[in-house]
Amino acid sequence: MGRLAGKKALITAAGAGIGRAAAEAFAREGATVIATDIDVQPLSDLAWETGIASEQLDVTDRDAIADVCGRHPDIDILFNVAGWVHNGTIEACGPDDWDRSIRINLTSMYETSRAVLPNMLAKGGGVILNMSSVASSVSGVANRFAYSATKAGVIGLTKAIAADYVGRNIRCNAICPGTVDTPSLQERMKALGNYEEARGMFVERQPMGRLGNADEIANLAVYLASDESSFTTGAIHVIDGGWTN
Ligand code: NAD
Repeated sequence: MGRLAGKKALITAAGAGIGRAAAEAFAREGATVIATDIDVQPLSDLAWETGIASEQLDVTDRDAIADVCGRHPDIDILFNVAGWVHNGTIEACGPDDWDRSIRINLTSMYETSRAVLPNMLAKGGGVILNMSSVASSVSGVANRFAYSATKAGVIGLTKAIAADYVGRNIRCNAICPGTVDTPSLQERMKALGNYEEARGMFVERQPMGRLGNADEIANLAVYLASDESSFTTGAIHVIDGGWTN
């Protein structure tokens, strides 16, 4: 029997990258998965390939979050994956970049967690998993000002929820990946001008001599979503190939 058999999971930003790998891994482990994304096209491919149920959801849309969570009152696992990278220092980060970073990376997790918690409490427990990054309170990374500030906020949000609900069978944990080869990273490498040079730069800072892949992060997410991690809450899980070691 799969490690998530009988569980229902809602995943944000499941159309590509880590969210997609997690949706596939959760389904393989027996969960009923509601894969959501702002972009419906990759979701329809995912649903077609795997039979996973999909829903369009923009994590910055409070009403849409309430609607999806209202139609799925039996969620056991919420995996908040959606995030956005603003490249640059504080000087390069204008008010719109700052607001957008907070909205997509942090407010979204406040909204989704607040929407699912009452139902999780009513059914006797649940798991909230939040995607942070090593670029956060874990480590200072150059040119990730707004990203790191909001991902550090994700860690605070995670620890606060874990502390408030530890006695009510809600576990809340954060995942902090290093550099993972996903479509958005590919785009960011291309945007730097010289793709090969940019990729070389990212790989060079990796002690393992390679980037992470989405399945490696999804495997950790399965563990944290499952009862195998039943004694773990409020914890930061760094998975970065030794980058910040
Ligand atoms: P990604 O950034 O490419 O995003 C994947 C999906 O997010 C896309 O399908 C996109 O349509 C969707 N998305 C974008 N805006 C959205 C919104 N407002 N609402 C809902 N969906 C939206 O994927 P990724 O690189 O796998 O990153 C996933 C998460 O992991 C992010 O939170 C990111 O910050 C974090 N992370 C990534 C890395 C990395 O190196 N890739 C490292 C550390 C942390």
